[in-house]
Amino acid sequence: MPSEEMLAYAKELASFHLFTEEGKAAVKPLSSMSPDEARSIRVVLTDVDDTITTEGMLTASAYSALENLHRAGFIVVPVTGRPAGWCDHIARMWPVDAVVGENGAFYFKYDREQRKMHQHFWAKPEELKQNRVRLDAIEREVLAAVPGSALASDQAYRVADLAIDFCEDVPALPESEIDRIVAIFEKAGAQAKVSSIHVNGWFGSYDKLSMAKTLLESVFGIDWAQATETVLFAGDSPNDEPMFAAFPLSVGVANVHAFAHRLKNKPAYITDGHSGEGFAELASFLLSARSGSIRASTQAASR
Ligand SMILES: [Mg+2]
Repeated sequence: MPSEEMLAYAKELASFHLFTEEGKAAVKPLSSMSPDEARSIRVVLTDVDDTITTEGMLTASAYSALENLHRAGFIVVPVTGRPAGWCDHIARMWPVDAVVGENGAFYFKYDREQRKMHQHFWAKPEELKQNRVRLDAIEREVLAAVPGSALASDQAYRVADLAIDFCEDVPALPESEIDRIVAIFEKAGAQAKVSSIHVNGWFGSYDKLSMAKTLLESVFGIDWAQATETVLFAGDSPNDEPMFAAFPLSVGVANVHAFAHRLKNKPAYITDGHSGEGFAELASFLLSARSGSIRASTQAASR
């Protein structure tokens, strides 16, 4: 658990990053989302690392939050930088409707009645093979140029991207080293995005948002023009930025503050709780709104 000093420091950071240069509030507390807005939400897209998980673990409360949303009829879709191998497991076994993985390289949707995994990749198999050769060269360059970085432990289960670990299984690297990793990807013409643990790089003009759009339109028949009112996204770090920018109903879990200086597009709302605790708070908020008890619980709290 965070110490008192850490919490005080986080609050200090929050007060700095929560306001724009003009002094206007840039990020509002989740509790300020109107009940009408909360009730209009049908789809919950969520990052996984440090948004659902807490210090690298999936807690019972965060998993229950996913399950409660799914059972209540929300379309629940993790949108993650994690690899295809993990996403097969998530789509198959977690209480979710589909998953977008490797920062938008694909979506998987498991049909439980037909017992069939539907997979849609942005790139054709031949392109994936060619891109891998180029990513292998970037891997060699990064590992030689940035001491302390490492190939991510989940790289073997990836099909489209290259993940460099700066914080998961290696001692955390300073920001300047993260920037150097990003620069090596970009020099080679690849996209690079920073998550809370990895720098992920890939060839192709896709991201978490573009694949989420493809999934929601083609599989769930969501009208994209309406998506700003019916889709909520929850995340915590810079690789979530395209999602924060696209959805007015975007929510950062409290640890997003640590990356606030790297975010041009910040979430609209923020939870009190960090990581999985923040996600559980979000799920309770949405479920309460749907059952119409937000007003009642607010009144009870003010007594
Ligand atoms: Mg994350």
